[in-house]
Amino acid sequence: MTDCLFCKIVAGTIPSNKLYEDDEFLVFHDIHPIAPVHFLLVPKLHVAGLSDCRLEHEDMLGRLLLLAPKLASASGLDGFRTMINTGRSGGQEVFHLHVHVFGGGQTLPKT
Ligand code: AMP
Ligand code: ZN
Repeated sequence: MTDCLFCKIVAGTIPSNKLYEDDEFLVFHDIHPIAPVHFLLVPKLHVAGLSDCRLEHEDMLGRLLLLAPKLASASGLDGFRTMINTGRSGGQEVFHLHVHVFGGGQTLPKT
């Protein structure tokens, strides 16, 4: 996906404030954080969003979610919120699947 922002970040052609990387995922701090800690878990594989995931992505999605508490804990959070915006009407702006993790500071309001 040559025109995808997160593919470019994964490829290293656009810089990011990297928190974690392995063969399958890149995790970096959100450029416009809405909490004291706010990072994005991004699979290196280009999938546009959660609605584009299929059975073949099942294992990847499991590993993606399991990474969230590990990195939240490593970032000093004892609790955190996850968010996956899906589709334009779901608030998604970057059409490469990602999970927001945020926390720190005050207790987050109920949504
Ligand atoms: P979403 O609305 O779920 O698609 O979220 C996209 C997120 O990507 C937003 O929170 C943006 O602040 C964040 N973002 C956009 N460009 C960058 C970038 N170059 N580096 C880090 N985060 C970014
Ligand atoms: Zn992409």
